[in-house]
Amino acid sequence: MSPGERAENLIADFGITSPEDLDVVAFAYDAGLEVEFDELEGCDATLMGFENRAIATIRPSNVGRERFSIGHELGHWEMHRGKSFRCRVDDPGETLASNSEQEKHADEYAAHLLMPRPLLMPMVMSVERPSFKHINEFAEIFQTSRTATCIRLAQIDTLPIIAACYRGNDLRWLSRAPDVPKKWIVKRRLDEDSFAYDVMQHGKEMQGKQPAEVWFDDNDVAEEYEVMEHSARGRDGEVLVLIYLTDVEMMTPRSNRRREADDEISHGRYSRRR
Ligand SMILES: [Zn+2]
Repeated sequence: MSPGERAENLIADFGITSPEDLDVVAFAYDAGLEVEFDELEGCDATLMGFENRAIATIRPSNVGRERFSIGHELGHWEMHRGKSFRCRVDDPGETLASNSEQEKHADEYAAHLLMPRPLLMPMVMSVERPSFKHINEFAEIFQTSRTATCIRLAQIDTLPIIAACYRGNDLRWLSRAPDVPKKWIVKRRLDEDSFAYDVMQHGKEMQGKQPAEVWFDDNDVAEEYEVMEHSARGRDGEVLVLIYLTDVEMMTPRSNRRREADDEISHGRYSRRR
């Protein structure tokens, strides 16, 4: 069972059907995990366990980050029992950019616990053109941080999107919908023609169509397509980006592209989604 499935099973066991009932402290207590808030040196949350009881200490922050930290420590307690942890969970992008499997699993657990598929999916299905307006709405509904919500929105794999974060023009982390073909390699340095580049310099947020080659590296076909880009200021001088692949052809792996395009032409259903 994946960490996400474990978390969603817990939500199902509690019979929760509404985001306001996602009481992460209550879930923790039920699992024998006591939650305390205290200043911590060099980390955002710790877990100390003894037999069937444990204490999670959370560094006070805003509600979204605190909830994510609690979910993360509950994930460790459920999946990695018998160990103690000192975690940097304040920023889920940090873990995404790291190589720690246990930390990634605890983050995945937290993301599914706070934004379970059965509750988030119907809301995502109603989104026509994903933007930070939706990210902010979902973050408000689920009481989560904007970063955690961006990562989850891509990974729920309903919209053909890539969420990314840049700092000083360099890629820090990215989260792509599993259906987005791997051939689309996101640039590690911000292209000067991207909106994100302008936002990094002086803007607050920018949104609109972009040639796909602004966003993707070493891809000789990128110039044929356009994507929607929405870039906004993140924390600490970072820029968050949502890249929305509006053209259905971009979702087809390269080897099948010609054949399927031929099929579509021969069946008279060749169309592009814009
Ligand atoms: Zn951790």
